[in-house]
Amino acid sequence: MMPDTAPNSWESRAEANSLYGFTDLPSVQSRGTVVLTHGEGPYVVDVHGRRYLDANSGLWNMVAGFDHPGLTAAAKAQYDRFPGYHAFFGRMSDQTVMLSEKLVEVSPFARGRVFYTNSGSEANDTMVKMLWFLHASEGKPERRKILTRWNAYHGVTAVSASMTGKPYNSVFGLPLPGFIHLTSPHYWREGREGESEAEFTRRLAQELEDRIIAEGPDTIAGFFAEPVMGAGGVIPPSEGYFQAVQPILKKYGIPLIADEVITGFGRTGNLWGSETYEFVPDAIISSKNITAGFFPMGAIILGPELSDRLQAAAEAIEEFPHGFTASGHPVGCAIALKAIDVVMNEGLLDNVRALTPRFEEGMRRLAENPNIGEWRGKGLMGALEAVKDKATKTPFDSSLSVSERVANTCTDLGLICRPLGQAIVLCPPFIITEAQMDEMFDKLEQALKKVFAEVA
Ligand SMILES: *Cc1c(COP(=O)(O)O)cnc(C)c1O
Repeated sequence: MMPDTAPNSWESRAEANSLYGFTDLPSVQSRGTVVLTHGEGPYVVDVHGRRYLDANSGLWNMVAGFDHPGLTAAAKAQYDRFPGYHAFFGRMSDQTVMLSEKLVEVSPFARGRVFYTNSGSEANDTMVKMLWFLHASEGKPERRKILTRWNAYHGVTAVSASMTGKPYNSVFGLPLPGFIHLTSPHYWREGREGESEAEFTRRLAQELEDRIIAEGPDTIAGFFAEPVMGAGGVIPPSEGYFQAVQPILKKYGIPLIADEVITGFGRTGNLWGSETYEFVPDAIISSKNITAGFFPMGAIILGPELSDRLQAAAEAIEEFPHGFTASGHPVGCAIALKAIDVVMNEGLLDNVRALTPRFEEGMRRLAENPNIGEWRGKGLMGALEAVKDKATKTPFDSSLSVSERVANTCTDLGLICRPLGQAIVLCPPFIITEAQMDEMFDKLEQALKKVFAEVA
């Protein structure tokens, strides 16, 4: 597809005035920007009237599709009633009160407290500040180091980017000191010759404990983990991973924070990814699908112990000195209340469960391709890893931009999917039908065949 380069085209206007984030600029230069006007169910439509099945739910988050009438109605009703307010100085909207009740109710916690932000990055950033604040308040100001894993994605603010385990952050001089990355629990890639998956998990648990001891247990503020790594390439944990690391964290008094920004609210087939992997964290970070993508919002859901400790720390100085102007925005809260209801009670979570076998079957079929090294995933999130040589797991030369080419070919076929390293990521909206899922796999298969024929 050639870009429309006329100066008044949407493509040219987009390029002239927008600085693109997380975008392969050579692709934009050669192909132009896809400028979208609206969506219909799981499809989005561009300014030329072309329809694309969005197999990435926008950015993981538009789980109810792009035109859900109940969600827009909830937003409109709240805009009419009370279109904006903060949650400072002892005031907050009734919607905020109701959403906090709901989040604690649907959380794995018997009780807890909720704090709001506008994004997942801010939620992780806020959680780190909470940990620093509460450890200092408890007489342990040296407990400041944060443990995460390589390939983790926790966001882009200075702190959450430091938690993210991606090499691209070096251009910013990040991570900040005191942010420590452990081995990614990706058995296919990180497992050693002859090492079983159980042995791999044990090695990672040992690495965690060794690192805690080497750093000094009293210098570690917390451990953050996505139940399934998302933007790192859809990496489910190795067998028994959380069961192996949690006792070690408990032994050294280190809180386990589950970053459920992608896995929260149904993506893995249960309401929480931690439920799917059978562990109860000390706090949950939520964002993205908490509003089904209809409003920017992040939330920290603290379990009982962290709630009590943080409340005590705040009471000691009569305040938790932190908050965003739009924290707990009433429209966002009204939408989140509706989105949770839609996911839980209007068949979306049921559909994730019902369609997971078909999704896995489609992934398995595509993974038979000699240039797909593995497929991996959980529920309705998955990745196909492209390789030059399946037996040796050798990747393609990165200059070939294989995953970008696959994604661009998909776009030409009317399918949006995401290149991530050498993998292709699929995470369709929860409303996807069987026929739409078949369309997704058929188009991706065509694109894989075409691109592998070009590069092999
Ligand atoms: C997207 C994401 C974030 C960051 O959320 P933003 O809203 O983009 O700041 C944090 N953690 C995880 C697991 C994510 O997927």
